[in-house]
Amino acid sequence: MEIMIGRDANTSQLRVSTGLQSKLLGAPGSVPNTVSRQHCTLTINEKGEYVLKNIKVQNTTYVNGMLIQSKVVTDSDTIELGPDRYRLDWNALRLFIPKTVDITHLKKICEEYDQEIMELKKNRERFQILRGVTGVLTPIALFAGGIYSFFNPGERGPQNIVYWTLLTIIVIIGASLFIKALKECGTFDEQIKKVQEKYMKKIVCPNCHKFLGFNGYSYIAQQYDACQHCKVKFKK
Ligand SMILES: [Zn+2]
Repeated sequence: MEIMIGRDANTSQLRVSTGLQSKLLGAPGSVPNTVSRQHCTLTINEKGEYVLKNIKVQNTTYVNGMLIQSKVVTDSDTIELGPDRYRLDWNALRLFIPKTVDITHLKKICEEYDQEIMELKKNRERFQILRGVTGVLTPIALFAGGIYSFFNPGERGPQNIVYWTLLTIIVIIGASLFIKALKECGTFDEQIKKVQEKYMKKIVCPNCHKFLGFNGYSYIAQQYDACQHCKVKFKK
């Protein structure tokens, strides 16, 4: 959708129109003749940005004092039309700004988020298994030792040295793996947090840049027709 901005030929008011509606704004005679009847347009691009375009070469359009042909603008920019620098009121434009933004690009971003989280969870599972194995290994070694001692009471000599050496090795290996697994699990929560922080800046409304949640694209698309924050409509 395109908003056409210009001067009304009869009343010299600001005429702002879209394909659907047209409005005269400001007092009669408030717009100088140097503003053309079709002076510039404002459109909204797929990122939700406003693009101001000077229509004809003989028109002059300024953004923050700079002459432009086409420029992405925000409502903090000062827009002036014609050599007499008629200042455009953003509040007048807001009535016409199409309240729809395309959010289809969020599908891919949400998928990337799921992928990264899934990988982290897989890592965690691997370490949980490792921890489980080491947890089982030590009691088994001790139990085997008990059985051995039971059937060989009072036995002294090389067999016992071999047994105790093996047991010590198993316990040391088990303990070190256990500590490693514990450490990895601790960093896991941090890693998840980091990924979430990264995507909280990406899974956002293209209009107000506020976070839309981690529930996935289909959830956003099904649940919301508009942004909960700025009420802009979503094109899905
Ligand atoms: Zn929004």
